[in-house]
Amino acid sequence: MASSAAQTISAEQVARALAQGDVVVHYQPCYDLRTGEMVAVEALARLRNRDTGELIPPSVFLDVLEESGLIVHLDEMVLAAAADQVARWRELPAGRRLCLAVNLSPADLDDPLLPTRFRDATESAGLPLDAVIVELTETLLSRTGQGHEQVLADLSALGCNVTLDDFGTGNASFDYLRRFDVQGVKIDRSFVQFLGGGGPHERMSESLVRFCLSLGVHVVAEGIERPRHITALRRLGCPFGQGFLMSRPLDAEAVETLLRDEVVPPALAYAADPVVL
Ligand code: C2E
Ligand code: MG
Ligand code: MG
Ligand code: MG
Repeated sequence: MASSAAQTISAEQVARALAQGDVVVHYQPCYDLRTGEMVAVEALARLRNRDTGELIPPSVFLDVLEESGLIVHLDEMVLAAAADQVARWRELPAGRRLCLAVNLSPADLDDPLLPTRFRDATESAGLPLDAVIVELTETLLSRTGQGHEQVLADLSALGCNVTLDDFGTGNASFDYLRRFDVQGVKIDRSFVQFLGGGGPHERMSESLVRFCLSLGVHVVAEGIERPRHITALRRLGCPFGQGFLMSRPLDAEAVETLLRDEVVPPALAYAADPVVL
């Protein structure tokens, strides 16, 4: 089985990994940028190579899974495992309000029973549906067919938070905002990286953040890698953020340690503006 991003993986290898349950869920924390509180975790799938123990990232297996239709099974496994995990973390004092974000692919939306499956999976895990964020990329929405709008509306009606992922990267971001009733947007890393850097790129990124905030939806900045990104996002009033600067995606054990120790990432420990006495 392939193990580095440069390699490829066959449909048979992926199918075998799924059948053997070699799916590992990592979780990337999302923080309240004002307080440093962990408010959500995004479930990110990896496949384990049985022979080497190495974890294979989505960039290697996602296309294969989408082409074969097996992505539906992966996403089902990820939801079941992650809902169970997050329901348990919510019993910790620092996890009481923790939400779970999951990524969906086009094939997931082909199933009109997806909302029912979501309800069943979260109910059996004991996770309320209003603690679930469903992330959709524009590539996904550009391929949406008939019935997809209904599936999304049903998910919203159940209380799930439907969010546009990688916002700003596609050429139809604004069209999707009009067509779908979304409750959140995640501003793509390609915009966040310019914040605090000066120049026309920064102005464009700032405008995008302000625009998203003006929609009255939940706004998350993703791909925060530098302290200047935090300073700029706080100044603009962007409430939530995710990125390597605060935390990379972690295994469940490492997230649990962060929650038990109530760790505030050093990057968020101090207010952006010094208190003037
Ligand atoms: P995404 O949903 O936009 O997830 C964010 C990706 O960016 C993750 O990569 C994460 O590790 C990475 N990232 C987070 N913070 C930073 C940062 O500060 N800098 C940089 N350079 N990267 C950062 P990952 O885990 O490789 O996932 C890639 C994509 O694969 C995801 O993008 C998502 O679209 C898809 N994906 C992952 N897990 C699943 C899954 O279970 N089901 C489906 N359908 N798609 C998934
Ligand atoms: Mg995502
Ligand atoms: Mg994204
Ligand atoms: Mg992405």
